Amino acid sequence: MKQIASTILSLIFLLISCKNNTTENTTDTYKIPLYVWAQLPQHTITDKELLNQFQKLKNKGVDGVMYAAGHDPLTYKRVGKIIKQVGMEFHAWIPTMVQNNNPKLQPEWYAVNGKGESAFDKPAYVPHYQFLCPNKDEVYHFLENLYRNIADINEVDGIHLDYIRFPDVILAKGLWNKYDLVMDKEYPQFDYCYCDKCVHDFKSVSGIDIKTVEDPSKVEEWKQFRYDLITKIVNRLADVVHDKNKVINAAVFPGPNSIAKKLVRQEWNKWNLDAFYPMNYNDFYIEGTEWIGQLTKEEVNAVSTKKPIYSGLFICPKPENKTNEADPENHGLLPSELEAAINESMRNGATGICLFTPDRMTSAHWQVLEKAITTDYTKK
Ligand SMILES: [Zn+2]
Repeated sequence: MKQIASTILSLIFLLISCKNNTTENTTDTYKIPLYVWAQLPQHTITDKELLNQFQKLKNKGVDGVMYAAGHDPLTYKRVGKIIKQVGMEFHAWIPTMVQNNNPKLQPEWYAVNGKGESAFDKPAYVPHYQFLCPNKDEVYHFLENLYRNIADINEVDGIHLDYIRFPDVILAKGLWNKYDLVMDKEYPQFDYCYCDKCVHDFKSVSGIDIKTVEDPSKVEEWKQFRYDLITKIVNRLADVVHDKNKVINAAVFPGPNSIAKKLVRQEWNKWNLDAFYPMNYNDFYIEGTEWIGQLTKEEVNAVSTKKPIYSGLFICPKPENKTNEADPENHGLLPSELEAAINESMRNGATGICLFTPDRMTSAHWQVLEKAITTDYTKK
């Protein structure tokens, strides 16, 4: 009897030792937190195929997926279940101010530019640039309802906001050729929102009738008014999602001071979010990987290192064609640049990185990534 008791005790001791060893090993293995932006393909895909795709991502070191699958809660439930089964975080990636073809939305809720044209029927740059006005209660209620229904789903860990901004009043320099534009200053056809409510509300708080001002880009209060409109809508949505005990984060332009405020009126350092995913897409700004480091530093400082910054990296899908490609959408980091981009991000204080997108990664990219994510660049 005594012997049996002693054997049991030894077994328990052994189990505890094993458990401790496992814990120690896990802690010892350094890995950079890794997220990806991915979306449900246009074609039908079975649960088994999805499981296979997500398992591959997990095996490559991906910790969480920002997943775009439209507005239907049931789709998020289905996808989320599979992502959770694999053991990754699941964030529902849903555009905010850009909303296309939806019977729930009225044409008069869309933003209006400085020439009086609506983004509903005359969007800037591209047909999908149908931006809503962030100053309308109806718009807020539509968004609140949308995000609340998705945040309600058990499998959803968080809400990932995107297009949470005004249309680009100035495009990133790498896009000027594509649209045959020189955006040396703010032009009225790209400057929003001059709807009656925005003009009226701004006059009430500032005394300025912005429609009578010759160059509105010189009026600092008018810029601040619009930064604040976006900030208010984000913070109201954050309360809704936090009430559901879920996290909320966003894809933002880099900066915010150097780029996000100037190009898209995002003063995101004032947003009550749990994490930020700045799109540090150097090729869009005709910059190299060292620029990623400079911007990451600005971003980390902008939130006083209190919130995680995941450095968003734009991947080149066909590295062999990059130099012949005119469209910057097909540019991005080559496999030979990827390690430097990760190094710059991490050395300058990023909590992790986020890839746009896993589908654009070639096998050469994955090879570089595999080694890079287990390297502690902060100690080098
Ligand atoms: Zn407006």
